[in-house]
Amino acid sequence: MPRESLVTWRERLRRREISAVEATRYYLERIERLDPKIRAYITVCAEEALQEAEEADRRLSAGEDLPLLGIPLAIKDNICTRGIRTTCASKILENFVPPYDATVVERLKAAGAIILGKTNLDEFAMGSSTENSAFFPTRNPWDLERVPGGSSGGSAAAVAADLCVASLGSDTGGSIRQPASFCGVVGFKPTYGRVSRYGLVAYASSLDQIGPLTRTVADAALLLQIIGGPDERDTTSWPEPQPDYLKALENPVKGMRLGLPREAFGEGLDGEVRTALEEAFRALRELGCEIREVSIPHMEYALPAYYIIAPAEASSNLARYDGVKYGLRVPGRDLIEMYKKTRSEGFGPEVKRRIMLGTYALSAGYYEAFYRKASQVRTLIMRDFEEAFRQVDLLLMPASPTPAFRLGEKTADPLQMYLSDIYTIPVNLAGLPGLTLPVGLTPGGLPVGLQVIGPQLADARVLTLAHHLERALGLELNPPLE
Ligand code: GLN
Repeated sequence: MPRESLVTWRERLRRREISAVEATRYYLERIERLDPKIRAYITVCAEEALQEAEEADRRLSAGEDLPLLGIPLAIKDNICTRGIRTTCASKILENFVPPYDATVVERLKAAGAIILGKTNLDEFAMGSSTENSAFFPTRNPWDLERVPGGSSGGSAAAVAADLCVASLGSDTGGSIRQPASFCGVVGFKPTYGRVSRYGLVAYASSLDQIGPLTRTVADAALLLQIIGGPDERDTTSWPEPQPDYLKALENPVKGMRLGLPREAFGEGLDGEVRTALEEAFRALRELGCEIREVSIPHMEYALPAYYIIAPAEASSNLARYDGVKYGLRVPGRDLIEMYKKTRSEGFGPEVKRRIMLGTYALSAGYYEAFYRKASQVRTLIMRDFEEAFRQVDLLLMPASPTPAFRLGEKTADPLQMYLSDIYTIPVNLAGLPGLTLPVGLTPGGLPVGLQVIGPQLADARVLTLAHHLERALGLELNPPLE
């Protein structure tokens, strides 16, 4: 059976050409056979998934028509699933079983989806390679010696290796888009506030956003339709209802003005990545789009600002892991020693680094110099984008400066690792929608992703352009796995 998109699976399930149990078995068999090499999953819920599939088949036979009835999906393991362990790839939550579902999970279930399991990530979503998982690294299906990117590396690898139809990830500084580009799949970080964060384990709350990783742009549109929209349980959720994303895919793109920020195409961009992107620009011109250069003058300050704001928020969010109410508890002689031991043993080195950076940046006397300055820079970056969107409809940037790198290549040098998100971080700082789609392979056979960025709440426009480009390129991307 060939790899199929969500939209195709849905048609086949509806026409009863295949049952939900067969679809689920297909994935469970692949996971059993291939995941020992890739290690995309932390937890596989085989029994529960099959039970849900039987139920889905009953409902399909009864003629029920739900948008995802019988579709097997995977969920990043920092999104709460009731009754299913949610670890954040951290020892401190290794045995945490949430008593509730995240809003996105609730909505997927209400739409009839089946949860195959929970995917690997960098501990608490801090990282760009999935090597910061406290349990094991995930490998890139295109080359098992390379990283899948991160932090949603498990979700991206699972889609690329066809170990699920589609998955959810979270993106604070690039964690959906960068792994999607490393693994040759579509990854979409919607406008901040478009998708509820209720039940997403917080990393940096003013930046975190949940989104889909899929085989096609239409699949991403379909999933966003279901998981997105207002939610009372998240005060940062946008109150406006969502447009019909699937319908918007066929809107015309002729005459669209696309901007290339000059700052994103300078030094530091790998030559092979550049070549693949230029191919995509040619295709876009043939579709009748107009491409021009623009500027985001403060782009170079995005990375330093992010590495103050994100750790500052993280240091505050992660204060709750103290061994008292849930998660790991390492006993001590008194309460303070219990806190210390629990946190020293429960958190990995990168998480500790972020907590220290953040605590420092927020401490008395340094707050003004660091946190406040970084917030001001953030405002300047937002204004840069606003100005650019007065001249063009959408922006195009690389997803990452290089294709997937080797395991171990950047673990010794955090700065090198941080640079991997240089093109994705500005988009989170400004709260904008950003989608990456594969536009080609390097001569060495590694996927290259292009990032399409829109103004706030122009998620539909981003999807429209990406859909037209995907069709024009007509790539068949299958990693050489079997
Ligand atoms: N790599 C970035 C970081 O480590 C972004 C991670 C993310 O988006 N969750 O913070």
